[in-house]
Amino acid sequence: MDLREIGEFGIINRIRKWTTSSDPALLQGIGDDVAVIKMGAKVLLITTDILIEGVHFDRSWIDPYPLGRKALAVNLSDIASMGGVPKYFLISIGLPKNLHISFISSFYRGLKTEANQFRVELIGGDTSLAPKIVINLCLLGEGIRRDLLFRKGAKVGEDLFVSGTLGDAALGLRILQEKKKMNGAERLIKKQISPQPKIELGQAIAKRHLATAMIDVSDGLLIDTSHLLEESGVGARIWEDRIPLSRLYRKWIHFFSKEAFPFALSGGEDYELLFTAPSEMRKRIASLARSLKIPITRIGEILPKKDGLRIINRDGKDYSPSRLGFEHFR
Ligand code: ADP
Ligand code: MG
Repeated sequence: MDLREIGEFGIINRIRKWTTSSDPALLQGIGDDVAVIKMGAKVLLITTDILIEGVHFDRSWIDPYPLGRKALAVNLSDIASMGGVPKYFLISIGLPKNLHISFISSFYRGLKTEANQFRVELIGGDTSLAPKIVINLCLLGEGIRRDLLFRKGAKVGEDLFVSGTLGDAALGLRILQEKKKMNGAERLIKKQISPQPKIELGQAIAKRHLATAMIDVSDGLLIDTSHLLEESGVGARIWEDRIPLSRLYRKWIHFFSKEAFPFALSGGEDYELLFTAPSEMRKRIASLARSLKIPITRIGEILPKKDGLRIINRDGKDYSPSRLGFEHFR
C-alpha cells in the first residue's frame, strides 16, 4: 500500500494515533489549526506550514517578494482561526545551489513587510541545500484560554458562517497556470499570490464570544468544513446558492467550468474564516461584519453527526459530495 491510498489526512490520522500525552498543560495537540499550551494565565499558540517549489508554487508565476509574504500569511491565517495574537516566527529554507542571491533578498523583504504589518518578529530558523526550494515556517502566538476557538465546539442547530468570498484564489491559480493573458482578472490572481490573513476578524470573533468553533479555509470549503465537523462530532448542510462569490469570480468562472461552484466548494487558499454560532448571535455577527467591512455570510446549518456533510444545490437537490477537494498524495 502506498500513500495514494490513505492520502494526506490518512497519514495525519495515523500519526495522531501514535501520539500519547497526558501533559495537562497541552490543551490542544494534533487535530486543530494550531497547538495550544497553557502558560500561566495565557496560552502559547504554535503552528507550522511547508511550501515546496513545484507543489505549492512555481517560480514562473510567483516572485520571491510575494512568496515571502505568503509564507508568513498562511501561518498567520492559522493563528487567526483560533482568535489568537501572532508574535514570533522561525523560518527554515532549503535552497538549490544555482539560485541567484537576489531571490533570498527579495524573499526576506517580503517576509519583513508581512511581519511588520502584523507585528511579528523573526527569531530564527535553519538553512540547507535542497534539490528544490523548500520553505518551512513556524509561527508562535498567544491567546487567552476562555476566548480561544477550536475546530471542536460546534453544536446541532447552530449556523455556519464564512467570511469574504470563496473560490477566487483557486480561479486565480488556474489563470496563472494556463498562462492566459486575461485583462481584468488581476484581482483573482492577487488573491492567489497575496492572501490576506483575517487576524483582526478572528480576534474580534473570539474576544466577543460570537462563535462556538472556527477554522480557516485553506484547503477548500468542503474539506475544511469536514475537519470542523469531524472534530465537533456533528454534520452540516450547506446551501450552494448562499456561498459568497465575488463579481470577478462570476465573470471568469465560465472560461474554466460549466458549473459555477466547483472552485468555490473545493478550491483552496482563500484563507477566509469558517465558524459556527448559535442563532442568537446573527445580529451581532452582522454588525461586526459592517464595522470591519468584511462580508460574513450564513451558508449553512449544523446537523447531527449521522447526516454527514450535505449540500443543497440551486435545484433543491440534497446530496452528499463524493469528492471534497484537494488532498496531497491523492
Ligand atoms: P492546516 O491545514 O490548518 O495547516 P493540517 O491539515 O495541515 O492543518 O494539519 C492538521 C493537524 O495535523 C494539525 O494539528 C497539524 O499540526 C497536524 N499535522 C500535520 N502533519 C503532521 C505531521 N507530519 N506530524 C504531526 N502532526 C502533523
Ligand atoms: Mg488551518
